[in-house]
Amino acid sequence: MFGQGLIKGLGITFGHLFEKKITQQYPEERPVLPERFKGSFSLRVPKCIACGLCSNACPNNVIKIESEKDENNKKKLTGYKMMAERCLYCGFCVEACPTKALLWNHNFERAKFFREDVNLDLFNSYVPSPEDEKPAKPEKEEETAKPEKEEETAQAS
Ligand code: SF4
Ligand code: SF4
Repeated sequence: MFGQGLIKGLGITFGHLFEKKITQQYPEERPVLPERFKGSFSLRVPKCIACGLCSNACPNNVIKIESEKDENNKKKLTGYKMMAERCLYCGFCVEACPTKALLWNHNFERAKFFREDVNLDLFNSYVPSPEDEKPAKPEKEEETAKPEKEEETAQAS
């Protein structure tokens, strides 16, 4: 039939006309992002043990760590820079961090006029938080500690 395609197309258009609107009026309306959204990076400086695992895990040599030895001969972080212009967003660095010092955040508004401004200085831009002051403990130690406790309770009962 002549015009059948046109009628079908208009039918779809009118169908969408009365649906609930999904367009967000950004930036006035802020998007609700999924919990695991990869925006930018945050470093909880007190939790960082300057082990360098994040830097070693990075396939594109993005992370530059500076550290020094303290009075107890322990490594202390003195600088943490990311050449984020080269970042692949693979997340290997965040996965490699044993103390969860390096995290993704939801900051997606990272457009800059100059390319070098995209790079991050996570050490100097750190804003102290009481939650981060708890002593850094490698995640693996916590994981291995749990089964021992369970074994102890099982033996006691
Ligand atoms: S997300 Fe990937 S490329 Fe980017 S800094 Fe981390 S490991 Fe490197
Ligand atoms: S892996 Fe984690 S603790 Fe180690 S240097 Fe990187 S951010 Fe710091």
